[in-house]
Amino acid sequence: MLADASSLSPQPMPTPTHSSRKSALRDLSARVPRARNASNGTGEGHGGHPIPTSAYFGINTFGARQMRDKLPKEVSAKLAAAIRHGKKLDIDIAPVVAQAIKEWAVSRGVTHFTHWFQPQTGLTAEKHDAFLSFDDNQHPMEKFSASQLIQSEPDASSFPSGGLRATWEARGYTAWNPASPVFIVESGETRTLCIPSVFIGYNGEALDEMTPLLRSSDALSAKAIALLELLGDTGVQRVFTTMGPEQEYFLIDRGHYAHRPDLVMSGRTLVGAPPPRGQQLEDHYFGGIPERIQACISEAEHELYKLGVPIITRHNEVAPSQFEMAPLFEETDIAVDHNQLAMATLRKVALRHNLQAVLHEKPFAGINGSGKHCNWSLSVSADNAELDGTNLLKPGKTPHQNIRFLVFLAAILKGVHRHSGLLRAGIASSGNEHRLGANEAPPAIISVFMGSMLTRVIESIAAGKGSTTASQAMIKLGVAKLPEIEKDNTDRNRTSPFAFTGNKFEFRAVGSSASIAFPIVLLNSAVAEALDELTEEIRANMKRGKTVEDVALAVVQRAFKETAPIRFEGNNYSDEWVHEAKKRGLPNLRRTPEALEQLLSKSSRNVLTKLGVFTKPELESRYHVRMERYVKDMLIEIHTLREIVDTLVLPAAFSHAGSLASAAAHAVAAGITSVPQIEAANEIGKVIESLRKNHKVLDEVLAKAEGMHDDVTKQAKLLTSAGAEAMAAVRADADTLELKVSDELWPLPKYREMLFPV
Ligand code: ADP
Ligand code: MG
Repeated sequence: MLADASSLSPQPMPTPTHSSRKSALRDLSARVPRARNASNGTGEGHGGHPIPTSAYFGINTFGARQMRDKLPKEVSAKLAAAIRHGKKLDIDIAPVVAQAIKEWAVSRGVTHFTHWFQPQTGLTAEKHDAFLSFDDNQHPMEKFSASQLIQSEPDASSFPSGGLRATWEARGYTAWNPASPVFIVESGETRTLCIPSVFIGYNGEALDEMTPLLRSSDALSAKAIALLELLGDTGVQRVFTTMGPEQEYFLIDRGHYAHRPDLVMSGRTLVGAPPPRGQQLEDHYFGGIPERIQACISEAEHELYKLGVPIITRHNEVAPSQFEMAPLFEETDIAVDHNQLAMATLRKVALRHNLQAVLHEKPFAGINGSGKHCNWSLSVSADNAELDGTNLLKPGKTPHQNIRFLVFLAAILKGVHRHSGLLRAGIASSGNEHRLGANEAPPAIISVFMGSMLTRVIESIAAGKGSTTASQAMIKLGVAKLPEIEKDNTDRNRTSPFAFTGNKFEFRAVGSSASIAFPIVLLNSAVAEALDELTEEIRANMKRGKTVEDVALAVVQRAFKETAPIRFEGNNYSDEWVHEAKKRGLPNLRRTPEALEQLLSKSSRNVLTKLGVFTKPELESRYHVRMERYVKDMLIEIHTLREIVDTLVLPAAFSHAGSLASAAAHAVAAGITSVPQIEAANEIGKVIESLRKNHKVLDEVLAKAEGMHDDVTKQAKLLTSAGAEAMAAVRADADTLELKVSDELWPLPKYREMLFPV
């Protein structure tokens, strides 16, 4: 179906009026799927058939393919080597690279460039500069120097730094991360060259998400190489992590969205009665994607393909109006950039379809929330052809490969066991708090799922059932058969926050709106420390007459024994697990502030500073930035909730009660003896009274919290306890009213309307 002209551009936000909810519904029924790629005309070939993706994939990036075409051979080889092995760019090739990038960009209609970076806001940041310059004769020209490519000083003093630098102090600057390809962002007619960059303070302090990620990758690589060398796997240049993030999100009609101040302000609904039908029929998951939604998703994918983001799957998720997209896995820092682009593109393209992409972790109470399942593994870059490209978390064919696999597994179990609190801190946010432990997402307790086959192997080794020589043990225990199992596809792993799925771990507890970087920084660090310890242990136990594999097996045995408490194969959503985890001594950190405090625990400080991932002040600043963000989110939510109650919910309830009262008065005046409106008005009156009482309690907590602004930890603790309780009480009354007040009078789009668009 073709779109009419009016649906081709986003419609202005409707002005809320008394009947604004009804007008949103009317608009919705007139919506048609937007015509394919109406905005940029690049999606159709001859005869109206879509162009194959491969024909335009990556046209807006300057990656390996473009480099080969545009750069002199030796320059492109040097650049590729720097990228492949995680080395810094050779300064003498920078001018040539800058020139080639400029020519490519200008030929694609680009006028401006920007260092594109990821401050600690969860989003990306950019400040555009024109290529326009003037030569000595004042003739206009396009200029882009090596230094402009490599470094920029955007000042950018208003980003969160957690006290690391005051706004009047040293400026922050950005530096190109050549491992991530530059790309062109199209926005209407404007095309801007984006240079993925890190953002650091004058003395090199990390102010962004990417810097610690690169540091943690280096630390992990160094420790993994040392272990591999000890095991006899030499010639490894780099061990890097791979990442395939599955992104969940909601798409709802923009007309509804515009009439929900809570969604607009805080990303989630702060009131809203549960609809009789939610997701219990299980009819949405993997169902057919509605045509209007499909048009939006396809257009987003199309834009992402141009940017070189390899999106490969799409499907309906469990909740109504919830969807998922996943790319093919890539090296983690590129996957981090690409996930940011995926989120931004979804938001942008959705508007063209009069839809709103909602990426909050829990936009609708009582309905499944959204996560970002981070599939993570370790891969090898080596001179040695046999090792190059090896996935270290894939069981191998020979006893040597299998013992290597088991040592890496042991390191991961060890790291996650020791630092489960820290890993929980890495996924702590106001949004994810509503999801973790809310019976539909992995709980706030971190544990590891290994699958039945591997569990059998691990338990046999832990019990010393194998054999003292590694080669016999591998055969006896059936490790050699593991590759055929690939994955344990039981439903159980779906409830685990951290599940082994055949050749990778799936960190399922990460929130949908979060940057991948921070949780992976912490995971990399926890694993790097454990790799180091296992390496030392193997080294210390080397004896004559023993092969390194035999010693490694003994070390793995101890590690499997010691980490038994972190492994859990059962249903993570059950109450029994909460009790069981307590017995095992695993932390259950339900609220964000208590989780964030783990960042400053002794073991966290120790591992992160020892590995050079954060300095002590940097770590403290991360804590402050995250805690402050939590407080800000909560305050925004509370202010928004009060406004909704005062200006929308209460007026509707009063109108309803008023019309009942006048109906009752008329009935009485007419001499009618049965006047049920009196009882109905009294019932409404009671709920209104309760709502006003709870509102007052909320006001008091708010005033108290705002009075404590010099102590963010104290503020956070008050808001997460008394604040959250007061919000819940207000919400309960508002939701009761929603189910009693006349539908004609109710001003807010209801869950059924937002989630089941017609
Ligand atoms: P499932 O749907 O069972 O979770 P998939 O095989 O569909 O698993 O993979 C989901 C995500 O995991 C995809 O983004 C995929 O590219 C990614 N993935 C696969 N192998 C790896 C790996 N070695 N490292 C990181 N991510 C991976
Ligand atoms: Mg998955």
